[in-house]
Amino acid sequence: MTEKLVLTGLTKRYGNHLAVDGLELQVKEGDFISFLGPSGSGKTTVLNMIAGLVEPTGGSIMIDGVDLTHQPANQRNIGLVFQNYALFPHLTVSGNIAFPLEVRGHSPDEISRKVDETLRLVKLEGFGERLPSELSGGQQQRVALARAIVFEPSLLLLDEPLGALDRRLRESLRQELRSLQRATGITTIMVTHDQEEALTMSDQVLVMAGGRAEQIGSPEDLYQRPCNRFVAEFMGSSNIVAGTSLTKNGKALLQIGNVAVPRSGDVAADGRPMQFAVRPDAVGFDTDGLVPSALIGTVVGSEFCGEYYRLHIETDDLGILASHIKTNTPPAIGTQGVLTWSAADMHQLSDDG
Ligand code: ADP
Repeated sequence: MTEKLVLTGLTKRYGNHLAVDGLELQVKEGDFISFLGPSGSGKTTVLNMIAGLVEPTGGSIMIDGVDLTHQPANQRNIGLVFQNYALFPHLTVSGNIAFPLEVRGHSPDEISRKVDETLRLVKLEGFGERLPSELSGGQQQRVALARAIVFEPSLLLLDEPLGALDRRLRESLRQELRSLQRATGITTIMVTHDQEEALTMSDQVLVMAGGRAEQIGSPEDLYQRPCNRFVAEFMGSSNIVAGTSLTKNGKALLQIGNVAVPRSGDVAADGRPMQFAVRPDAVGFDTDGLVPSALIGTVVGSEFCGEYYRLHIETDDLGILASHIKTNTPPAIGTQGVLTWSAADMHQLSDDG
């Protein structure tokens, strides 16, 4: 598979502050990849370096095997969409979309054909003569997208493209944006701080924190196999179960306070700190037969989530754990029960306690 984009040791320093710290990344042709992370983690700085808007302090940017690290932005053939539309207010929709083609010296016939074709792609046929001020926010963002793809860029960069829109519109535009990207095949990078947006739209997700890559993987990988505590917590998908290793009768256990439960992984020296992610849907809550040697918790809250109830269960040694249980009547607040999960559902995290 061809690598469309390769970042090697990409670094940006502002004074003493490392905004991006030696980022390595390879993006396959045609992929949709999201940069996901909290505010200030360096996502936009990376995007701006790829676009040529911010000069890297170190490292390199290759697109289609060509080193573009120090090329001016206007020579990179990259389409850009920002959160706040940035359309030319005095130009019509067609005028806005035609602009990048005019700059590139295309013929009037070709411009008109491509503008019409792109208007169709973004579902704005019939809107060509309107001014941006005569469009809704979602429509304006479609025009911005049309303007970014009309010249068939080698890469499309989206910085929080749905950030200014209301929730319902965001959700419908997500799917539209993704099918448009599939139809055109343009390799796309999107910056977002919204886990759900990243998980639902992307082939690959790069999770960033403090200017570094924490993990890169498919949405399923990140959700089910977070590599460390930061990713597990940021994805909001898992309980963190921490304890120390214990071996009994050749079996690998995890000691949590006074309780030892079977765990995944090989036997290890006793007393080693270990952390695991356990998804709430893998956690059972058994209110019959409280066994003192089991992990016991008390229901402190429950939420109706349609298909299941999400129980918040307080434990002495692990804090509050979430359990997704399918039932018509959730246990009342204050109910005690045994928390259960199978060792196979424990995903070990890389942090050492
Ligand atoms: P994100 O997009 O993840 O919110 P940014 O890439 O915007 O993060 O910022 C990363 C870090 O770099 C932040 O700490 C930010 O304050 C800093 N930073 C970004 N741009 C500049 C700048 N022009 N001058 C100084 N510091 C900056």
